[in-house]
Amino acid sequence: MRIGLYPGTFDPVTLGHIDIIERGLALVDRLVIGVAINRDKGPMFTLEERVEMLEAECAEITDRVGGEIIVHPFENLLIDCARDVGANVILRGLRAVSDFEYEFQMVGMNRALDSSVETVFMMADARRQAIASKLVKEIARLDGDVSHFVTPAVQTRLKAKMQG
Ligand code: ADP
Repeated sequence: MRIGLYPGTFDPVTLGHIDIIERGLALVDRLVIGVAINRDKGPMFTLEERVEMLEAECAEITDRVGGEIIVHPFENLLIDCARDVGANVILRGLRAVSDFEYEFQMVGMNRALDSSVETVFMMADARRQAIASKLVKEIARLDGDVSHFVTPAVQTRLKAKMQG
């Protein structure tokens, strides 16, 4: 059984993430989405909110295309999380050259910690490659239209956050 771990902050989940989730799902038997607590990044949404949004989006995806997705919050090292969930592969999305250096270091470090877990990179569809949670939040804060970047459900959550 091939188990893939797709880790991230997902603050909030975007159409870019969803693109990678669907691509990843086609490669493995079970896709575990690792939601990092990431206190350092000062997330806009709580871990619980990020998990709820992902669960709703993933239910829609598996209803449509089948497969198995599990949303799994984690606070420990990525490589330990991979071991906990039995993942043989870590999936990451690559946007631009700017992502590359950090990802390059991560692979090197994770490989030193556990050489049995392979990391695979995927690129989203051209229209979704530029989407980043950080920019979605900035646009939402300035009351801009985020409908090209997130699902209607996430849009509603962003609006509620801005008002609250
Ligand atoms: P992290 O804090 O780990 O960067 P993110 O939630 O920002 O968490 O991203 C999780 C993963 O999804 C990363 O591998 C990131 O490169 C990828 N990703 C995010 N947005 C896109 C996108 N538009 N296209 C491709 N990959 C993406």
